[in-house]
Amino acid sequence: MIYIALGASDEIGGSCHYLDIQGTGLLLDTGIDPEADGIDGLPRLDIIEENPDYWVDHAFITHAHHDHIGAMPVVLQKFPHVIAHMSRATEQLAEILLPASARLQLRKQREGTSSADPLFYEEELDVYSYLYRPHELNTPFEVTGVRASVPIRASFYDAGHILGAVGILIEFESDGEERRYFYTGDTGMRAQTIIPGAVYPEPPIDVLLLESTLGADPESEKTTRRTEENGLGEAVATVLRRGGTVLLPVFALGRGQEIIALIDRYKNRGLIPEDTPIYTAGLMRAISDVYDKTRFSTPRLNQDFQVYGVPQGRLPRGQTATKLALSEPSIHVVGSGMMFERTISNRLAQQLVESEKNGIFMVSYTRPDSPGHRILEARRTGKGTKAVIDENKGPQPVRCDVERFRFSGHSHRRDLMELVERLNPERIILVHGETEARTWMKNNIEYFYPEIEVLSPQTGQVVEL
Ligand SMILES: [Zn+2]
Ligand SMILES: [Zn+2]
Repeated sequence: MIYIALGASDEIGGSCHYLDIQGTGLLLDTGIDPEADGIDGLPRLDIIEENPDYWVDHAFITHAHHDHIGAMPVVLQKFPHVIAHMSRATEQLAEILLPASARLQLRKQREGTSSADPLFYEEELDVYSYLYRPHELNTPFEVTGVRASVPIRASFYDAGHILGAVGILIEFESDGEERRYFYTGDTGMRAQTIIPGAVYPEPPIDVLLLESTLGADPESEKTTRRTEENGLGEAVATVLRRGGTVLLPVFALGRGQEIIALIDRYKNRGLIPEDTPIYTAGLMRAISDVYDKTRFSTPRLNQDFQVYGVPQGRLPRGQTATKLALSEPSIHVVGSGMMFERTISNRLAQQLVESEKNGIFMVSYTRPDSPGHRILEARRTGKGTKAVIDENKGPQPVRCDVERFRFSGHSHRRDLMELVERLNPERIILVHGETEARTWMKNNIEYFYPEIEVLSPQTGQVVEL
């Protein structure tokens, strides 16, 4: 058996792993590095293409975040015989997100904001969709490859995190012994507002591929969901009471829907007025629809809850209409989460930031080079400190409230350590974390569980299992 990391290994980048299990070639996730453009963001599929010993039969997609699914059309272009397995909800999300990604790539090239050619076009995607195979949770299916010597079984387990997210159990026999490999995907072990916590398999597990996103984030284990939830509720209520407008920049898939559910809680508790208008926009609305349609067929904390059960208007497009919507006390839940230029949250922030009546609250991680991070830092320095939200507009004084609240869909590192203890694998391969995060995880696992072998392979490094 062989393992090779094909995505970036020293940063989060795109997730993509190659496994050869006695002749069956598997890709675990086909992610794109969201910070890179065009082919630079692709996983190292060339490693597979250039070696005649390597071969891919099946791809497994753990969930519909871009860093796990974004390169799937490219994989299906390069290896046209590959079948792409995913949960039914992920398939439905893919039908929305991949065409949107194709359109965005084309738009960037046409606008001149990217010199990269699009990796795929919207028209191609219909053909690939015949290669998607949706599966139910906890229902094993066979994925034995054409060159394989033993049968391989796979099963999906609920990974929490976002709608449709799964971890993958792979079972096969080797030298007369049953072997079990488990890949966590992105894992949320604790309940959010809509999506419950992960439900993973029982031990024994021989090899665990473990995500380590928050491995270097001590803050996340100190904060609790309850304090963040209360903190955000208070911050929003304060702004509304003084007649201001609230902007909550979100990722369109996952955080957006969770935040709408949270606002509903605030309204039900009487923390904010029932009739406060909520506005949403863009891709998030189509995704919310999938959340609602799948509520009886996917894990939920409350199957009766519907995102569209929370009254919300579509943010109007025109300048005058937007201005009108912003002029009344209201809540705007729009992308992008980091407020990148030429997104709706960026446009609204430019209009809200200079008045001390308003509030902009980050509910996701913000990269240091993002406008979201810049206004957060400026406001920390002092009211009126200038920050650039849009290059063309130039620096603006940040007078509104700006705060960050932690609502991660990822497990913090203590939860990951508990998972290690429970599954007690022979070996762990650390994936999906920056160097610092993986180092913390490796050191701690080796200290507390010295009998477990911990690997943190570089991209392209061949690991014999
Ligand atoms: Zn994810
Ligand atoms: Zn991820």
